[in-house]
Amino acid sequence: MQASDLFLLRARWVLPIEPAGVVLSDHSVVIQGDRILDILPSAVAPTHYPSAVVVPLEDHVLIPGLVNAHTHAAMTLLRGLSDDLPLMTWLTEHIWPAEARFVGPEFVRDGTTLAAAEMLLSGTTCFNDMYFFPEEAAEAAVATGIRASIGLIVLDLGTRWARNAKEYLERATVMHERLANRPLIRTTLAPHAPYTVSDTALLQVRELAAEWDVPIHMHVHETATEVTQSLATHNERPLARLQRLGLLSSRLLAVHMTQLTPAEIVLCARSGVQVVHCPESNLKLASGFCPVMRLRAAGIKLAIGTDGAASNNDLDMLGELRTAALLAKAVSGDPRTLSADDALRLATLGGAEALGMGREIGSIVPGKAADLVAVNLAHVATTPVYRAVSALVYAANRSAVSDVWVAGQRVVQDGALTTMDITDVLARAHAWGERIAEKDGHNPHGSMK
Ligand SMILES: [Zn+2]
Repeated sequence: MQASDLFLLRARWVLPIEPAGVVLSDHSVVIQGDRILDILPSAVAPTHYPSAVVVPLEDHVLIPGLVNAHTHAAMTLLRGLSDDLPLMTWLTEHIWPAEARFVGPEFVRDGTTLAAAEMLLSGTTCFNDMYFFPEEAAEAAVATGIRASIGLIVLDLGTRWARNAKEYLERATVMHERLANRPLIRTTLAPHAPYTVSDTALLQVRELAAEWDVPIHMHVHETATEVTQSLATHNERPLARLQRLGLLSSRLLAVHMTQLTPAEIVLCARSGVQVVHCPESNLKLASGFCPVMRLRAAGIKLAIGTDGAASNNDLDMLGELRTAALLAKAVSGDPRTLSADDALRLATLGGAEALGMGREIGSIVPGKAADLVAVNLAHVATTPVYRAVSALVYAANRSAVSDVWVAGQRVVQDGALTTMDITDVLARAHAWGERIAEKDGHNPHGSMK
């Protein structure tokens, strides 16, 4: 065995996530190739692995890579374009017109690269995407070394990607064949939302998802307006419609879910529906509150996502899981709801399980992929450390992320990206910003014309 095959990450604390609630002090995680080989006390590690290259992380907590279970990565290029508006006004008067004008292969490649840079630097090693031109998103992910679940979007609305639902489904089929076997890339079927996809297309989505054995990634019950409009159009609530169409199953990743009756919670629990909670997007768009405590009490599996940078406005999973923990307490009126340990689990193993990757990533267990994040807690803001998970969830922020590995590749080293030229990434993003601002009626310096 060559010395370069083995790396020994010698950490002050390791939070393996499995078993739940465990904190390992002064432990080392051994990486061989793309896998976690071992976890053992640092005092004995050099004896067991004398040829390993030691990576000292003396002030750090080592956690599994964070999984962003819902985003639209390329929308980083629309970050801050329009804020402080209700969902439908924001979408129909600002975001969709900007997308109609600008979204194409280059936009998606440059936007997803910017998103990958932001996510890797903040400790996210896997993201679940939903956007147009999925092959460009996948290429950007591969080039930057981040793991991705690429949503093959389905809509009735025509865009530059496809003219109608039939064409979206045809393109999804081609993309699934092209992308499904790429290393670090998986696919999902991603019908946008009940209000943008017809019954016929949803039935085809269900058939294809079963045939390919992939998740169905969909916005569901995001706002009260969505429910009211569905009652007016279909004479049934969106979840009832999805049930009639046979889409309620453990395959469904229902994103948002802020409007739920007690009967709907029981229905989702019985059918195994998984919920992706995006608290900051829901807060910013005033969409409502996902009833996290009631969902967990019913046994529904949860994951956490940032949503796109146009409605958040960042892709910071450490920030997101803290918001999730705080908001769950406020909404339930119970400070015991979603503890620091629980919030971290949802943002790691919860996301991995939702994406069908629970055996591959999400916890620090020998045999799993080496997707790991080191966070430096030797900062005034995180001192003293009584419990590493408390410091991480309630006090640390993403600037404390120092090193990140995806499948054993060190993609962030001492706070810097190793897989991309960040100057070039930023220059491209700035150029898009100037073009988009000009058409949206802003001048490049931010004030309205
Ligand atoms: Zn979304």
